[in-house]
Amino acid sequence: MGSTDKAVITGFICRLCSKMNRFVIHIYGEEGERMRLAEKINAYLPITVKMNDPLPKTACLHCIERLEAHHELMEQFMFARRKLTNENKATSVASSSSTTVDATPAPNSPPC
Ligand SMILES: [Zn+2]
Repeated sequence: MGSTDKAVITGFICRLCSKMNRFVIHIYGEEGERMRLAEKINAYLPITVKMNDPLPKTACLHCIERLEAHHELMEQFMFARRKLTNENKATSVASSSSTTVDATPAPNSPPC
């Protein structure tokens, strides 16, 4: 009759929100590696995960979803920045020359 107290799986602690969750993805598991979870966490979040640190290596789906959304947003920003800097390179020459050239025409009145 003591089968429940042994195999009660309440879940895994999420590394990101520290909540117990039944559905998690192992950061260094097959799926976590494929999603580059460790890479994204280290890049975007104020925490660092290492394969050999003593903290949990699981992340709940809710956090992963947010991490993925953040990643998408960052990709968008990077894309926009690249696009804008490229455009800026092309237009800055023309726009800067039009504003600086404001020289007054030389007095062209011959004394006679
Ligand atoms: Zn979480």
